[in-house]
Amino acid sequence: MIQIVSNPLEWQRQINAHRKSGWSIGFVPTMGALHAGHISLMHRSKKENDITCASIFVNPAQFDNSEDLDTYPSNCPSTREADIAALKRAGVDMLLYPETGSMYPDNYQYRVLEQELSQKYCGKFRPGHFDGVLTVVLKLLNLTHADHAYFGEKDWQQLVLIRRMAEAFFLETEIVPCPTVREASGLALSSRNARLSPKDQETAPWLYKTLISDISLAEMRTSLEDKGFEVEYIEEFNDRAWGKRLLAAVMLGKVRLIDNVERN
Ligand code: AMP
Repeated sequence: MIQIVSNPLEWQRQINAHRKSGWSIGFVPTMGALHAGHISLMHRSKKENDITCASIFVNPAQFDNSEDLDTYPSNCPSTREADIAALKRAGVDMLLYPETGSMYPDNYQYRVLEQELSQKYCGKFRPGHFDGVLTVVLKLLNLTHADHAYFGEKDWQQLVLIRRMAEAFFLETEIVPCPTVREASGLALSSRNARLSPKDQETAPWLYKTLISDISLAEMRTSLEDKGFEVEYIEEFNDRAWGKRLLAAVMLGKVRLIDNVERN
């Protein structure tokens, strides 16, 4: 049985009661249109906690483009049903499925701003995106007070920003990174892949193949452009704690794809 809660304060109350009973809590926030990548996070949480909680909330504050928000795949009733069925199969215990307004009683007057990393890579192309992400994640983490919260390495910049936010605000939840789940072709699973045309679905795996190839960043850009990708950026990320990664964002038709790989 999965328990579905739409009111954030009711969610907070119920989770508090579980915590008082001494149960450890794992939390997986998502925007729905669930795929095997999301489900891998649920499985990890199931292994490491007594109770696994998930949320589905398509957060308007993180969309810099209204068409992207309107066409986001989870915005449809059949997806909602499929998502709930997938969470039940994964053994998720509780699901927060809030209305937009209930997560923003302040009308987004209060927000989390990060001044450095959030301005680079995806942040350069999506103004305000990470403010929206960090704000909603802080709200969700405060509502849930989980022992562990699980985030995918697929969204590398997001993961690093969330981990650092948790440290900066002394949050008690441990942020757990989880590896990217890919199709056999190498394409990273993403809810947005469903919006690719059949032809673009054949082209899309080239992104990962290019990122792991042994050529220069300039050659990668040319190779992707030759295949029909519009490249936003391919850049190295280098950090003492997180190591070296190669991060990229591209447009294929109207669909934005991101990916990242370890770099030696
Ligand atoms: P989203 O619904 O896109 O906001 O994603 C919810 C969580 O699932 C985030 O922590 C993502 O990084 C993670 N996620 C999305 N796609 C994948 C994937 N292919 N492999 C692993 N985690 C993923």
